[in-house]
Amino acid sequence: MTYMKHLLFVLALLMAGIVTATAQMPSIPVDPDVRIGKLDNGLTYYIRHNNWPENRAEFYIAQKVGSIQEDDNQRGLAHFLEHMAFNGSKHFKGNELLRWCESIGVKFGTDLNAYTSIDQTVYNISNVPTTRETVVDSCLMILWDWADGLLLEQEEIEKERGVIHEEWRLRSSAQQRMLERDLPKLYPGSKYGYRMPIGLMEIIDNFERPFLQAYYEKWYRPDNQGIIVVGDVDVDKVEQKIKTMFSQIAKPGADAAKLERVEVPDNAEPIVVIDKDKEQRINFVQLLVKHDAVPDSLKGSLEYLVANYMKNVATGMLNSRFGEIVQQADCPFLEASVSDGTYLLSRTKDALGLGVVPKDGMMNEAVKAAYTELLRAAEFGFTATEYGRSKANTLSSLDKQYSNKDKRYNSQFVNQYVNHFLANEPIPSIDDYYQVMKQLVPAIPLDAINQVMKQLVPKNDSNFVLVSFNQEKEGATYPKEDELLAAIKEAKGGQLTAWVDNVKDEPLMTTLPKPGKIVKEVKTDKFVTETTDGTKNGYSELTLSNGVKVVLKHTDLKKDQVILSGEGWGGSALYGEKDFANIKMFDDVVEASGLGNFSHTELGKALAGKIAGATLQLGTYRAEISGSSTPTDVETMLQLVYLYMTGNVKKDQQSFDQLMKTTELQLKNRLLQPEAVFSDSLSLTMTDHNPRYKSLDVADLAKVDYDRILAMAKECTANAAAFTFTIIGNYNDATIRPLIEQYLGSLPVQKKIVKGKDVSSDYKGKVVNNFKHKAETPKAIAVLHWYSKKVPYTLENVIRAQAVGQVLQMVYLKEIREEASAAYTAAGQASVSRNDFGDEANILGYCPMKPEKADTAIFILRRAVQDMAAGKCDADMVTKVKEYMIKAHGDRLKTNGYWQGCINNWRKWNLDFHTDYEKTVQAITPERLCDFVKEVLKAGNEAEIVMLPAE
Ligand SMILES: [Zn+2]
Repeated sequence: MTYMKHLLFVLALLMAGIVTATAQMPSIPVDPDVRIGKLDNGLTYYIRHNNWPENRAEFYIAQKVGSIQEDDNQRGLAHFLEHMAFNGSKHFKGNELLRWCESIGVKFGTDLNAYTSIDQTVYNISNVPTTRETVVDSCLMILWDWADGLLLEQEEIEKERGVIHEEWRLRSSAQQRMLERDLPKLYPGSKYGYRMPIGLMEIIDNFERPFLQAYYEKWYRPDNQGIIVVGDVDVDKVEQKIKTMFSQIAKPGADAAKLERVEVPDNAEPIVVIDKDKEQRINFVQLLVKHDAVPDSLKGSLEYLVANYMKNVATGMLNSRFGEIVQQADCPFLEASVSDGTYLLSRTKDALGLGVVPKDGMMNEAVKAAYTELLRAAEFGFTATEYGRSKANTLSSLDKQYSNKDKRYNSQFVNQYVNHFLANEPIPSIDDYYQVMKQLVPAIPLDAINQVMKQLVPKNDSNFVLVSFNQEKEGATYPKEDELLAAIKEAKGGQLTAWVDNVKDEPLMTTLPKPGKIVKEVKTDKFVTETTDGTKNGYSELTLSNGVKVVLKHTDLKKDQVILSGEGWGGSALYGEKDFANIKMFDDVVEASGLGNFSHTELGKALAGKIAGATLQLGTYRAEISGSSTPTDVETMLQLVYLYMTGNVKKDQQSFDQLMKTTELQLKNRLLQPEAVFSDSLSLTMTDHNPRYKSLDVADLAKVDYDRILAMAKECTANAAAFTFTIIGNYNDATIRPLIEQYLGSLPVQKKIVKGKDVSSDYKGKVVNNFKHKAETPKAIAVLHWYSKKVPYTLENVIRAQAVGQVLQMVYLKEIREEASAAYTAAGQASVSRNDFGDEANILGYCPMKPEKADTAIFILRRAVQDMAAGKCDADMVTKVKEYMIKAHGDRLKTNGYWQGCINNWRKWNLDFHTDYEKTVQAITPERLCDFVKEVLKAGNEAEIVMLPAE
């Protein structure tokens, strides 16, 4: 082990309490499987071959610049420029780039995207099918255009102003408004106070083209750019092409502008920001202690990796404590959490952050109590049992990650390379990383972690920042600066005692049930998949001695995953009006409860080192169990399932009370958000005002009955004979059968199967719900919906629906966003589904829009659907949609969830949605899509829900 010597050295330093990075530290080698190079003009590239999934690749260009580089008269233009990258470049005029990407099955928004932040702008073309080499060439051409060939045409600029203005409106929320307003105070004397990427709307609406051009030419230069290509590509060829194409970009002159490092000045006195907004739902406070960020030049060192790990361990253990503390009835806060990382939005400064959500009117007490925990951890450190659990969890997740190393997705690599390029974050090979961590984790003594915790908590008041955002309301009292600071002072003056870690030292199940038997096993060769070693598998259906059915399918699509799903008759349809509140809270209450002999908190501790989970949920007509685990922890997952299925959900009053208080807080001010007001109106209209489907409000909480929910949980799992379990993944074929016999074969069963009755509730005919709502930022949203119960659930109809949704989506983006500049986004959707009482087909158009252009947007939403019903459908769009659907289907085949769905559909409805999928997609014609829309519209059910701003 080559690292051992270095490790010992690092550990010696850690023990001495020296954890600031020093330049003498050994460095971690960069993964040799990534080709990194730099052209003469300064452009950096990363290329890696990866063939999971095969025939796919990612193309990225990262720019080391963002809104911080803007001049005062350019605020918002870094982001504006990012939008312009999709509106005309040297080789792709107008919107040709979008159209070309669509033609290869690469969808704007999903696979083709970009983001702008303070100090970086990153563009991506993802999930690109690479079977044709010309596609690779064209994607590199797009990156080239982005790097150096944007046209920034006047006409396109004019159209984009409206789109970005609507993006601003869409993102405008209470928190966003306050943050923007308060940034100058949070960054005194620094440009960071004035550089939110969305910028100023008066600049967006009015700037002249040269300002945008100036930013582009000044900052988009090869020395600030990194190209990243990962996937099923020939590395040598791609490298050669990058060299040929990108070397043509001129080398920046000696006078090129330098990327200035924008500093965040220290503050000797605390900075306190207390703000309020009428739409803020939850009052909270964030305490921050700024400290220097590790310089990029030192991030390649082994010590950086170790120091990061240790910091995460310390904050992770403190967060577990917070999770336990909030359950105490007298705890003055509902939530608290600690983290260490970037100070708000500046990469040049880090901070330790402590976020606290107080109980009503208890802001000062909450701050004092949460800060006290920070001090307690700093003074006494953590206990051996807490640290033991943390290590066990780290080691098992390392093993999990490592076991799946051959099936890592391209996106995982890309993100690491982007961070390496932009911030010099380390990119060791997974083998090196695994070996280092496997040695290191058990070797770091608890004392060293406790030292780190001590160092994180400041000794004095310097660099202290406190932010409190509150709901503005008549008669409300707001936190006061002197009181908040006094609360911290009191915490510092308090007498502390060490933390006591209560652990229940017993196995999840003390006595194991008497196993049943597998009485029958039928193998089928349907839904065949191939494992890495070439074995082909369909699936098996086991019948257990108690009548329970288990479907087993072995795959190694994800080497670290086994998933389980179980469905049994029952569900919320069995319960009437008295239980409406219980039904709505059922899933959350069960989740917050204990299991077997363990309370909720004890259960979390008992599962340390295991990667296994299970949940019980109440569907409308079925009770549903889902589980997942690593291949190693299948037994634990099955034990959890066993406990759920045998009525062992354990009452945990403390945890329940905490859940109810948090839910109350969530619900109380929910309707302050205009989006929530719309969504409630929408669901009321769609479900014909049926109280069964009305969203929960605070008054309903009084009707929630914990004992009744526990009784319902027992009831819906009482009869395992009503259940079928499906287990899919990389389980050990030799050991899983005895486990199934033990934990599923032993489940109690009854003869009688209880089924719920039809509780569906739909609006009928034409319904209009138009209303006005007053909001801080005027908002307008529209949904148009059509449905029919006469379109059968078949493979062809499901595919037609998917395609119709995508065609509508294309029309909406083109006409509403690109042409009318009436919205930032719009969506089209269609589906066909089945439940025990029948089939239903839906078509939906959705758009959060510019209030002044609401009529235009709504007109297009409806007209596009009516056009299709009248036989008008763009054949070129249909071809593109087919391309995308076949590609996306190819990707879905690589997931266990896909096969689970196929098997369920087959067993439940005798429908095979797999075998003919591609053939059916290929057979789609514009006419068939139009017919689908016509069939749905024929039913005459149409709803229009529109919210417009009130004065
Ligand atoms: Zn944007």
